[in-house]
Amino acid sequence: MKVFKFGGASVNSADAVRNMALIVKNHLESDPLVVVVSAMGKTTNLLEKLVPGVRCDDVATLRRQLEDYHRTIACALMPDNVEVQQTIDRCLLQLDESIASLSDDESCYNFNYDQVVSYGEILSTSIIACYLKSLGINTVWGDARRLVHTDSHYREGRVDWSATRKAVLSFVSESKRCSVILTQGFIGGTDDGQTTTLGREGSDYSAAILAYCLGAADVTIWKDVPGFLSADPKFFHDTVKIKEIPYNEAIELAYYGASVIHPKTVKPLQNMNIPLYIRSFISPESEGSAIGNYHTISPETPLYIFRDNQILLSILPRDYSFIAEDNMQVIFGMLNTLGIRVNLMQNSALSFSICIDNNPQLVERLTSRLKNMFRVRYNDHLQLITIRYYTQEVIDSIVADRHILLEQRSRTTEQLIVPAR
Ligand code: ASP
Ligand code: MG
Repeated sequence: MKVFKFGGASVNSADAVRNMALIVKNHLESDPLVVVVSAMGKTTNLLEKLVPGVRCDDVATLRRQLEDYHRTIACALMPDNVEVQQTIDRCLLQLDESIASLSDDESCYNFNYDQVVSYGEILSTSIIACYLKSLGINTVWGDARRLVHTDSHYREGRVDWSATRKAVLSFVSESKRCSVILTQGFIGGTDDGQTTTLGREGSDYSAAILAYCLGAADVTIWKDVPGFLSADPKFFHDTVKIKEIPYNEAIELAYYGASVIHPKTVKPLQNMNIPLYIRSFISPESEGSAIGNYHTISPETPLYIFRDNQILLSILPRDYSFIAEDNMQVIFGMLNTLGIRVNLMQNSALSFSICIDNNPQLVERLTSRLKNMFRVRYNDHLQLITIRYYTQEVIDSIVADRHILLEQRSRTTEQLIVPAR
């Protein structure tokens, strides 16, 4: 069996969905094709603002935008299809009921987040399932909340592999006669039926989880780029397509923030020796990049990863004592409880610095907790740049006249924190 994953950009309009459906249609085989789909376009960002407890002035407008966006796409794809509009009605009703039932207490944020934000994927896959069926493709809709079993670590659910495997195998064996098994990326559920999510951009990971459970032949992630590029073309003109990437290199790159794949995606595939292809949905006939059992990247070239919207917190003991293991334990405890990932850290005797994504709600919560024990200074509007296989020349050209706030260098990797441009 094969697993395909389509991200938000590949289903962000009616035309995009038509294109996606054509790719699916051109790859049907005797075994069902497992298709994992994200929320349409930027829906997840919109839904984040509807989470109870998030300060947002224009909830009604956003709610309307969400509805209009999905209805417009569904209408354009299937003008006279009553069923799809009823499906959208049902999804939105469930979403509204869920929002109304949630407490806006700050301590419920992570739980609330998953209950609300998961509707992006529910909506997209519900519409796309109707569309594939309308094209005559025998499609079954799989509910990832019942397939991908996780613990109750909301916003970053940890997979229960054996329960997931059991659920996935049983669902797939019931669906053997279908051409397409369509399910949601990003979302899962606990044993007692609460919805969880796997972390932002987690749909790639969902595809890997399903592939692992099924022992799939391969996974293809369809993207708006021709493959794995040496840098994000949004930031860089002269990019090179990397044709072959060893599993471990892909894990490192994803960890540093290469947005082309989610950090947790590669490991399950590596464990089962399942190749991961990255291909362009804009030119689906062209060859992309392959992540697999290779020794080195090919071609060999420096790789650049830019992480925007960073904030650097410097944490200092109030009493001028050292930042030691006991303080670190407290700080990491807070980070862990709040589900904040550290992108880079550095310590000295008197201060501990962490670079994290600037999510205002979480940063505010973190700093208010830290301030009980520490002094906290911060710099925001920063960019974290990582260069793998750097040369001094490459670093100089990237830094140019920018002020470096923090720098870390290893044999293979240079990391810099600089003000955003
Ligand atoms: N819709 C989710 C997000 O935007 C998951 C994904 O797209 O991978 O983060
Ligand atoms: Mg996405």
